[in-house]
Amino acid sequence: MKKQFIAGNWKMNLTMDEALGLARKLCDESINSDVVDIGVFPAFVFLRDICEILRDSKVYVGAQNMYLEESGAFTGEVSGAMLRDVGCTHVIIGHSERRTIFQETNSMVNSKLKAALSFGLKPIMCVGEKQEERDADQTSEVVGNQLSEGLAGLTSEQVKKLTIAYEPVWAIGTGKTATPEQANEVHTFIRDTIKSKFENDTAQNIRIQYGGSVNIKNADELLGQPEIDGALVGGASLEPGSFLDIVSAAGRLS
Ligand code: PEP
Repeated sequence: MKKQFIAGNWKMNLTMDEALGLARKLCDESINSDVVDIGVFPAFVFLRDICEILRDSKVYVGAQNMYLEESGAFTGEVSGAMLRDVGCTHVIIGHSERRTIFQETNSMVNSKLKAALSFGLKPIMCVGEKQEERDADQTSEVVGNQLSEGLAGLTSEQVKKLTIAYEPVWAIGTGKTATPEQANEVHTFIRDTIKSKFENDTAQNIRIQYGGSVNIKNADELLGQPEIDGALVGGASLEPGSFLDIVSAAGRLS
């Protein structure tokens, strides 16, 4: 069994005091970090301080997005080089909110993944279908395209550095969760797709997180599925108690 990876996507939430307080709490209480990988993804403006707070802990710090160029006239953007410079090790690429609100395409996701890897960052690549796509039985087609276009031109060695997050768009921030069976089915499809494009070893070792209204009530069942290797957690990661309860649920499965 792979080590589970529980990541908290804080989105555009928290004040400076709240964000630093949450990081300090995780630093003090991340007891299961030997058996579970833990990561937090605060807003850009908090990253430097949070990297400092968590420097001697085992909690990874990453950004929620990045731009694909190293530097230059890209007003409002932040590069992978800058993220490395402040101490980040990870970055989320292609979150559904980036795709739907900011029109990020599979091709942009592909360029950002390549840029992130070139700066030594480990990406969490998000994929997932919308409600109408699931209703029209297009989940495999949509997720399959996100994978083949998003991973185009990457080598097996590069793909090994990725985590994939399966996040059905209809389950994000809605309180609706995929059933453990629905999630496991798509995770199996994702692993098979990676196997068909890269080496079997790459497919077997890559971690596939589930994301979409994960909380302490559903974490045990979801994380207990054979193809689920962790969770990308939004709302429930903003409160240390609920986030650490999910980490503990993952720890019990190790
Ligand atoms: C997310 O934003 O990646 C997410 C899964 O959010 P939530 O847990 O709030 O549904």
